[in-house]
Amino acid sequence: MKKLKDAGIKFADLHVHTTCSDGTYTPAQLVKEAVARGVSALAIVDHDTVGGIAEAVEQARGTDLEIIPGVELTAQYENQEVHILGYFLDYRDETLLKQLKLIQLSRVERVYKIIKNLNAEGLELDPQVVFDISGEASVGRMHIARALVKGGFVGSTSAAFNKYIGDRCPAYVCGFSLSVPEAIKLIRGAGGVAVLAHPYLLRNDALIAEFAGQGLEGIEVYYPEHSQGMINFYLELADKLKLLVTGGSDFHGSLKPDIKLGMIKVPMELVEKLKARQKND
Ligand code: AMP
Ligand code: ZN
Ligand code: FE
Ligand code: FE
Repeated sequence: MKKLKDAGIKFADLHVHTTCSDGTYTPAQLVKEAVARGVSALAIVDHDTVGGIAEAVEQARGTDLEIIPGVELTAQYENQEVHILGYFLDYRDETLLKQLKLIQLSRVERVYKIIKNLNAEGLELDPQVVFDISGEASVGRMHIARALVKGGFVGSTSAAFNKYIGDRCPAYVCGFSLSVPEAIKLIRGAGGVAVLAHPYLLRNDALIAEFAGQGLEGIEVYYPEHSQGMINFYLELADKLKLLVTGGSDFHGSLKPDIKLGMIKVPMELVEKLKARQKND
């Protein structure tokens, strides 16, 4: 796995999940782990929620760790989900909070739809098992995967994705109503900077120019699944389209055991460039 080489003493990890979505570390545990690993800036970007930020900011008080408030919004392009990261946003912005609440409702509805498809595949999964696992969190496919493991339907969460609920798999349902330009607008409206997450998952790099024309401001170049060739390609594309460059581990705790917090080391210079694009009016 290729990653950005350690760029010096200070570095950032700009993509981590907490128990507020589908990670296994609470925001406070994540902050402690980041401090222990020498991370200087950490962006909390849970799926369609900003619920973990206040706790992380509180826990980081008095340490040298900077918490960057963020979100990973799920937008839909045709029948594919597109993840748009928002950085340095006002996580108390009312329009943002209102929209996120609506997305939470659609996430619950989507669980029922996916389970209906799983039933059609012969898997009698009870939706309540999923909701017992997710609790107050932003519910998603990772919780369904865990429920499938718990019920003995699959041996691992990755098997659940590969066989049933991964993108383009038989039980997959997109089910998100926000379009990419709407997601970008929501982030920018809350003062944030809109960045395309893990662009390799698009499987269509031509879309990046289209999104840039719709207000996208950056792309996540440094990512565990990106080969050095992809990194070089996206760096060139970012330069051509005048997009900011970011990166992160997409840490989910024990659910993605190969991914370690801070394994992608983003130079602070890129964080400063990102911060400079925050909207303050
Ligand atoms: P959702 O927001 O419900 O669509 O779920 C997206 C999350 O599912 C991602 O952030 C990952 O945590 C997880 N995920 C998606 N595809 C896979 C996969 N093929 N293997 C493991 N986890 C995956
Ligand atoms: Zn996730
Ligand atoms: Fe994502
Ligand atoms: Fe993520």
